[in-house]
Amino acid sequence: MNKIIVIGNGDVGSSYSFALMAQGLGSDVGIIDLDANKVAGDVQDLTHGLAYVGPKNIYSADYSDCFKADLVVITAGAAQKDNETRLDLVKRNAKIMKSIVESVMANGFNGIFLIASNPVDVLTHYVMKLTGFPPNKVIGSGTSLDSARLRSAVGEKFQIDPRDVNIYILGEHGDTQFPVWSHGNIGGLKITEWLAQHPEFSQEELVELSEKVKNAAYEIINYKGSTHYGIAIALARITQAILQDENAVLPVSVHLDGQYGSRDVCIGSNAVLNREGVREIIETPLDEEENKQMQHSIQTLKNMQQLVMEDEF
Ligand code: NAD
Repeated sequence: MNKIIVIGNGDVGSSYSFALMAQGLGSDVGIIDLDANKVAGDVQDLTHGLAYVGPKNIYSADYSDCFKADLVVITAGAAQKDNETRLDLVKRNAKIMKSIVESVMANGFNGIFLIASNPVDVLTHYVMKLTGFPPNKVIGSGTSLDSARLRSAVGEKFQIDPRDVNIYILGEHGDTQFPVWSHGNIGGLKITEWLAQHPEFSQEELVELSEKVKNAAYEIINYKGSTHYGIAIALARITQAILQDENAVLPVSVHLDGQYGSRDVCIGSNAVLNREGVREIIETPLDEEENKQMQHSIQTLKNMQQLVMEDEF
């Protein structure tokens, strides 16, 4: 049995549950949210699809259901209020996270945490500290969504299946993230080799795409209030890698222990994921400019982490 508890059933959480259904992931999916009616409605609605995807136990859960869960996925969070600074929001979401994690732990949970709530890197680090779990068991969605967005955008530009576009965005899931062009490849060709064979495209156009990706969330939120399908699919992919013991390489938020010259910070890096969670972190040798960007991202996150820890510990 693969038991998943989803905490937070808003746009992201409910889209994730739908992705689990559609992809046949998890045999037992419990949903928790402050809004019990929305959970009850979604549970019924999702259950109505089972005739077409096969059996699964989907239910309104409570925290006692976290006992023996394989995965607890946290997507609960508050949205920014008018006149609220980003830092106020961080502190408010850290408080929500603390109450959730304490309830999960009080029920003997010993599986893997997957965090999506923002700021995801800071909250992943916070959950690690709150639980005392080893770093392999606390994973943030990190730059999995950003990397997917860039791969899709580059794939669309070059008319290549995005699954064959291997370019990763690393660093903060936020403004200091950066694409690692130096290791990007399409069908085994380095990006520079690809561009040399396709002179109708330029490096500048790729840089524009990565800037557009960085701002994609703002653009989508402007259109419809939240982004949720992309992250739901990214979370489902991470879930699959873990539950199916895949040893898949994905860019997620992980706790550095000397990689990129840094310790005790959670940040988007490639990592090998399997049933144990993070099997190992892959440290990508960065060029000079990329390394500067990574160090800037690390420092930004460390500053934010410290503010959360000062307040809450
Ligand atoms: P939303 O407002 O639609 O949903 C949030 C849900 O959390 C609500 O249903 C609310 O009732 C619930 N909630 C709040 N406090 C709770 C608590 N203490 N216990 C249980 N449930 C609680 O928001 P959303 O659009 O679903 O976004 C959720 C989070 O995901 C936000 O922090 C958002 O920034 C983040 N997000 C992350 C990524 C990523 O790439 N990591 C992408 C998109 C959104």
